[in-house]
Amino acid sequence: MIIMHGLLPLPPARVRLNRSVSEAFRGVTLVHLPVKKDILPITAEVNGRGHLVVGGCDTVELADKFGTPLFVYDEATLRAQCQDYADTFTAPGVDTEVIYAAKAFICKAMCEITMEEGLSLDVSSGGELFVARSAGVAPEKIYLHGNNKTPAELEFAIREGVGRLVVDSFNELDLVAKLAAERKACPRILLRITPGIKPSTHSYIQTGQIDSKFGFGLADGTAMEAIERVLATKEVELMGLHAHIGSQIFKLHSYAKAIELIVDFIAEIRDKTGFVCGELNSGGGLGISYEAADEPSTIAEYAEVIIGNVRKATAAHDLPMPKVMIEPGRSIVGNAGITLYRVGTIKKIPRVRTYISVDGGMSDNIRPMLYDAVYEAFIANKADRKKEVTATIAGKHCESGDIIVKDAKLAAVEVGDTLCTPATGAYGYVMASNYNKQPRPAVVMVADGKARIIIRRETYEDLTRLEV
Ligand SMILES: *Cc1c(COP(=O)(O)O)cnc(C)c1O
Repeated sequence: MIIMHGLLPLPPARVRLNRSVSEAFRGVTLVHLPVKKDILPITAEVNGRGHLVVGGCDTVELADKFGTPLFVYDEATLRAQCQDYADTFTAPGVDTEVIYAAKAFICKAMCEITMEEGLSLDVSSGGELFVARSAGVAPEKIYLHGNNKTPAELEFAIREGVGRLVVDSFNELDLVAKLAAERKACPRILLRITPGIKPSTHSYIQTGQIDSKFGFGLADGTAMEAIERVLATKEVELMGLHAHIGSQIFKLHSYAKAIELIVDFIAEIRDKTGFVCGELNSGGGLGISYEAADEPSTIAEYAEVIIGNVRKATAAHDLPMPKVMIEPGRSIVGNAGITLYRVGTIKKIPRVRTYISVDGGMSDNIRPMLYDAVYEAFIANKADRKKEVTATIAGKHCESGDIIVKDAKLAAVEVGDTLCTPATGAYGYVMASNYNKQPRPAVVMVADGKARIIIRRETYEDLTRLEV
């Protein structure tokens, strides 16, 4: 056999770092990874020992060193997602802004990354605002959301001078006007509109439908009434509209429809009041891959649908192109994070089911119980092994519903194995609780073979620190 060195096929084109995970790896299953690649951080690989490696760090060593349960975030993935949004959510002659929806995962280290990548920040409470300001996020780059911001939260936001208050109700409008008058401030606001759109996602994370606690309804005329009230309120400056229709959305046509309705409304406002809306914030919600069957749209496709439809709809009404904003949360952090657990017990019920219990559960990942969320799982120290058993992964809490993954396909499991659930970067740690007085896990950030703790593990002492 003759080997012709010079004629080997070219290696596949290198993946540009600033493409999104979903764009680069959509639909590709690489045999050497235990799950579909786009579910994992972009730096995920399996080393010679059969261990999952993220950010150049052996995850089994991370679990040994930092303990379990452990959240691990890959800095390269976080930055790549931010950059993908920044690169693709632009168009010639269009003013755009990408605002990270911090509730998906917020801590000072995360705020620093989004700041460095040039993103603004959306916060949904005084607590999130406090963390953002503690991290040094400029107030004018912060958007405050919430359907029931307290007087104290609004006062805090006005005092700090946040960029936009997203006003959600008539009561809030009155309160903001009163607080602004007291402080002689004139906050800039967006009005949150409920366009009456039901995207196909879990009902708990649909927010744009008529029957919603959020925003001013478009269909029943409340939104127009709100506009008229705001325009007559000299204590605030109306900058534009906001609509967030839901989360974990795969089908982009819901956005197109929502934008069409909102721009129709912008035209109606102009015709009725003469006010030309300068800003349109279409919220967040782009879905991500949690399991093999998931095929989310790419960031580029999403950006194109938002900007393209705003352009189309405004042109149809002879309106100027407004500034366009989006607020992605999950799609920036979701696939950047994984959770590592230790397998503690294995219970085989003949002809029924095998339970594998790990040292965390609903206290670090409530989503399976809250939204029927589905996750993949694999043994991080056997990431190269064939999946040969079917088992249900249970948490350690005193609830039968404390199930992280039902009927997971796993390599032969033993007590002491390190179990990994990927795609836990969004709405995981931020929803963590101390149920059963479980100390909340540590969070480490990995990059270039180095791991640093960004949130330390709670101690038993932490569990009584608030008691008087
Ligand atoms: C939760 C939320 C987002 C982010 O949603 P994702 O699905 O995480 O992208 C954006 N805007 C508002 C107002 C939200 O409540």
